[in-house]
Amino acid sequence: MGRMIEMGPAFEQVAEIFFYDLPYVFALPVSFLLLAILLVYISRDTALRGIYCAIIQFLVTFMLWITVNSHIIHAVVKDWTEWGWITPMFLYLVPISANYVVFAALEKERRRGIAWVLALYGACFAVATAGEAAGWQGYDVMLPAYYGLLPPLEAYTFWQLWQSARQGNRRSRALLLPLVLLTVLGVFDGCNLAFGFTAVPTFFMPLGVFSFFVVVLQLQQEQLLREHELEDQTVHLQYQAALARERAEIDVLTGCRNRMSFEMALREGITDVRQTGRPLACLMFDIDHFKRYNDTFGHEAGDMVLKEFSAVVRQMLDKTKPFFRWGGEEFVILCAGLDLDEAAVLGNTVRRSVAFDTAEHLFHRADEALYAAKDAGRNCLRVEEPAGRAEVEL
Ligand code: GH3
Ligand code: MG
Ligand code: MG
Repeated sequence: MGRMIEMGPAFEQVAEIFFYDLPYVFALPVSFLLLAILLVYISRDTALRGIYCAIIQFLVTFMLWITVNSHIIHAVVKDWTEWGWITPMFLYLVPISANYVVFAALEKERRRGIAWVLALYGACFAVATAGEAAGWQGYDVMLPAYYGLLPPLEAYTFWQLWQSARQGNRRSRALLLPLVLLTVLGVFDGCNLAFGFTAVPTFFMPLGVFSFFVVVLQLQQEQLLREHELEDQTVHLQYQAALARERAEIDVLTGCRNRMSFEMALREGITDVRQTGRPLACLMFDIDHFKRYNDTFGHEAGDMVLKEFSAVVRQMLDKTKPFFRWGGEEFVILCAGLDLDEAAVLGNTVRRSVAFDTAEHLFHRADEALYAAKDAGRNCLRVEEPAGRAEVEL
């Protein structure tokens, strides 16, 4: 069996203090926890810093209010009664700091109204403080006026938050719960004090701080979404940069890598040779009599030759042998890992293949001329159009 404390007036006093302090004792560690979470988040996202700071200042005010209002303070500060004016001061500060959170959550165009609310509360607080400093118990005297202001101003704040939430502001939607809960609990506490609903005077408003978990979760979700978006944007930008780099390195006419790209590849190749000792060969090609071809058949026909030449050579090469247009009708193949003899074999293979392509082409053209002669009634000679003829010179 447990030991029970003897019942008596002292017991009743302890029970009274216990029930009075219970909501504060519950709310204080929760506020600490929320504060710790927000302090971790605040360093991670600069875009949400404003709203995080606003909630932090509210939690600090709220925690101080909880502390000075409960009996905890008597254990910490001796002669607390001399500091008695601090307790009513927080009755002014808590609504001001809660409205500042709403101010930070709202869109810019809605903030003006809440700024007025804050100004009115602030003016009331200033007058009360001046009265208190002058020794007229300003905080107590002004309290009815201040509590008279609360219902219309909070109704207005709620209305702004509601409108903003309806227009899709998720922070406003998340803040509706704490605002409603704190207001309802505050009104209940006021009525309880006046009409004595509970046997012991207990204030339930501190428990409203639990609802801030909803707000913190919402902000956390927002932060995660933003981080995902930023990641997506980074991937997209990296892709765009890679694409732009590739475009800058490609020759538009032939699709070969261009001279700039060659110079970079050559530098990398030389570094590789120095580091690994592997051989590196450089094959250079030039199309014979190309100027004459251009002069005879025109620039466009010349372009076609450059394109086809590149396509034929490219399909013979694997990725380890990049193919570059050095300029005009001159091309280069970089052959990493090939020594001089192996590169010579490759060079001859490429040369023969281009020449073979031309021979096949020549036969195809003679064949077409033969069919033209047959079409023309047979037993006659037909010669192809000059445009195709000069390709033999390749
Ligand atoms: P060789 O047999 O000695 O190499 O003579 P070549 O006529 O092939 O060489 P040359 O350097 O005298 O002339 C190269 C020509 O290539 C001149 C230029 O008009 C032509 N050329 C350069 N770039 C292009 C291009 O993009 N398209 C076309 N159609 N012609 C080009
Ligand atoms: Mg040349
Ligand atoms: Mg040439």
